[in-house]
Amino acid sequence: MIELDDAWAQLEATLPTPQTEERLPLSAALGRILSESPRATHAVPPFPASAMDGYACRAAELGALGNGGLAVVGTAWAGQPWNDALPPGSCIRIFTGAPVPPSCDSVLPREECRREGDRIFAEEPLQGERYVRPAGGDVAEGQPLGQPGLALHARHLGLFAAAGLDAVRCWRRPRVALLSTGDELAAPGAPLAWGQIHDASQALLPAALAALPVEVLGCWHSRDDTAALERTLGEMLEAGADALISTGGVSVGDADVLRPWLEQQGALTFHRLALKPGRPFSYGMLQGQRAFFGLPGNPVSAFATFHLLVAPALRVLAGETLAPTLRLQGTLAKALKKTPGRRDFQRGIFMATAQGFSVEAFDAQDSHLLSGLAEANCLLDLPLPEGDLPAGAEVTFLPLA
Ligand code: AMP
Ligand code: MG
Repeated sequence: MIELDDAWAQLEATLPTPQTEERLPLSAALGRILSESPRATHAVPPFPASAMDGYACRAAELGALGNGGLAVVGTAWAGQPWNDALPPGSCIRIFTGAPVPPSCDSVLPREECRREGDRIFAEEPLQGERYVRPAGGDVAEGQPLGQPGLALHARHLGLFAAAGLDAVRCWRRPRVALLSTGDELAAPGAPLAWGQIHDASQALLPAALAALPVEVLGCWHSRDDTAALERTLGEMLEAGADALISTGGVSVGDADVLRPWLEQQGALTFHRLALKPGRPFSYGMLQGQRAFFGLPGNPVSAFATFHLLVAPALRVLAGETLAPTLRLQGTLAKALKKTPGRRDFQRGIFMATAQGFSVEAFDAQDSHLLSGLAEANCLLDLPLPEGDLPAGAEVTFLPLA
């Protein structure tokens, strides 16, 4: 049995990095991983722009209340610049986002002045803030806007568009094929014969994969039979899978034919984790470079190992530079049961209180309990040597929502 951190170290050491790039319009780049450092094609803002509605002027000409004021000689709107030279002793009306004429250095906000006819008077001398956004004050021309490995969010795409880009180079997404194994499984919605259960993973895993920078090729199913399994895996590889994710068939029962088959292929790197839920988890490489993740059949174990190992592994395959996992600290609201000797990720609920986070693990922690998984908003990360914990103990948890 290997520990979770060692398992991750082995994954990181063996997962291939992406090789193929593609150029994507910004409209198709959400969630994708940059393969380049895109650079701003122009400064942002491209010109000095007004930060307020008011009057653009030369600060030195603007006296305190009681002087002759400045003559208002024109108007600049956002998108409709004022292009004439500004005579001495004058100003123009200006709106937020309009270019500040080259002869002006300041904008007097409307609420800080008094207008009488076509003249304005400052309530107080302009000092400090000049209310002009300088050209390039946000982004300089040619400035790098991201590094290879960056996962693109809406906020990045907004920056790229503002800086003049309409497309970026990203890594091609790894292609993922899913496999449910088990004679007992019926497709979602199909009538159940006695002894059958509905396949939960066929809904759970594609949904979890939707949040990742991968392309899902499809869901396959195989009976617990070596020949059928071999045929199905062949189809999945034929479909062009870069990564294969299976559920079930990797424990030590007679019907668990997947793990022995992988072992026989010499494709198995490890197959047992000191982890609960999720002990029977297999990892290896098929045909050299195609990652194989054998998840336990129990959907809660499948979810936990997917969340802890497979999702970050797929991000690495996709070329993403991983951010540290968000881990929070909280206080146990009630005692919990735990057996020492395995790292335990118990399902539970966390809540923010005035004293920090309060965390509670569900009493029932069996790994077939999908209702508890659905209700949980966190996994409590309980270290391997730890035993039962009393109310009030400090715990680490991973938020799920
Ligand atoms: P296995 O690892 O194949 O021995 O499966 C462990 C348990 O999980 C058994 O009770 C299976 O019936 C159940 N199981 C396996 N695959 C699925 C699935 N896709 N959906 C729901 N339950 C499953
Ligand atoms: Mg099975």
